Amino acid sequence: LMQLFRPLDMLGWVYRSIRQGLIDMEAMFDLTDTAAEVVDAPGAKPLQVSKGHVRFEDVAFGYEPERIILKGVTLDVPAGSSLAVVGPSGAGKSTLARLLYRFYDTTAGRITIDGQDIAKVQQSSLRAAIGIVPQDTVLFNDTIGYNIAYGREGAGQAEVEEAAKGAAIDGFIAALPQGYESTVGERGLKLSGGEKQRVAIARTLLKDPPILILDEATSALDSRTEEAIQATLDGAAQGRTTIIIAHRLSTIVGADQIVVLDAGKVAERGTHGELLAKGSLYAELWMRQAAERELEEVTER
Ligand code: ATP
Repeated sequence: LMQLFRPLDMLGWVYRSIRQGLIDMEAMFDLTDTAAEVVDAPGAKPLQVSKGHVRFEDVAFGYEPERIILKGVTLDVPAGSSLAVVGPSGAGKSTLARLLYRFYDTTAGRITIDGQDIAKVQQSSLRAAIGIVPQDTVLFNDTIGYNIAYGREGAGQAEVEEAAKGAAIDGFIAALPQGYESTVGERGLKLSGGEKQRVAIARTLLKDPPILILDEATSALDSRTEEAIQATLDGAAQGRTTIIIAHRLSTIVGADQIVVLDAGKVAERGTHGELLAKGSLYAELWMRQAAERELEEVTER
C-alpha cells in the first residue's frame, strides 16, 4: 500500500514546491521588479541622491486610460521629513507609493528626487534609494537570516544581526532552536503578522535607503504589538525621507505633514494640529477612529 501512496506524496510535494515558487516570485516582483512596460530611458543616468528631497508635481495617473485614479497631485517632502497620506479606501494612497518606486509611469506631471525626474534615471539606482516596508511581507522559503540579508547583497552576519536588533526581532531569533539558521515561510516556521513585519523592517534597515515608504497594515495587530512595531518604525524613519501610507491616524500624529487624499485629489494638508483645528475631513476621520479605538480598548480588556 505504501508503494501506492508514495507517488501521491511526491505529487503533493511537487505541488507545494511549485506553489511556493510562485509565492517567491510574487515576493520578488513586489519588492524588486517592475511592470513590464516601464523601461530605462535611453541614456538614463544613475539617480544621484544628495539629500532625498521628494516631489510629486501635478501628477495624474490611471491604471487604465479610461479610469483616472490620481488627478493632479502635488506633494513636497523635504529631505529627512515625514509625510503621511491618509484617506478613504481606494483614494489612491498606495498608488502614490507604486509611482514613486516606478512600478508605473505617471500619465501627466512628474516625480523628482533631488530635482531628477525619476522616469529619466536608471531604475536600479532608483530602487536602490528607496526602501519599502509593505503591508504584508511575503517571506522566502529559506532561513530567517537569509530573509533579512536579502535587504543588501553581500551583507555579513554581524550586519544582519545589527539589523535584527534595530527591528527588535533579535530576541525572538535568539530563542529559536536554530537561531538565524531556522527555516521560515511555507515549509518552515510560520511567523505572525507582527514578526513578518519586523523581518521587513530589518531587511530595510540593512538596505539603509535615504527614502522610505511605509505601507501600514490594514489588518489590526493587537495594540501592544502595534505600539512596539510603531516604535521600531519610528526608529527606522529617523534621518530618512519617509512616506507613510496610513490607515490608523493614531500612528501619524507626529508626522511633519499629513495629506488627506480623496478620490485622487489632495483634499486637505497640514499637521495633525492644523487639520484637527480645521474641523473638516481629517477631523471627522480622527473622531471616528478615536471612537473605534475606545471601543476596541473596552473589548480588549
Ligand atoms: P486602501 O486604503 O484600500 O489600500 P488606497 O487609497 O491605497 O486604498 P489604491 O490601492 O491606490 O487605493 O487604489 C486606488 C484605485 O486604483 C482603486 O480604485 C483600485 O481599484 C485601483 N487599482 C489599484 N491597483 C490597480 C491595478 N493594478 N489595476 C487597476 N486598478 C487598480
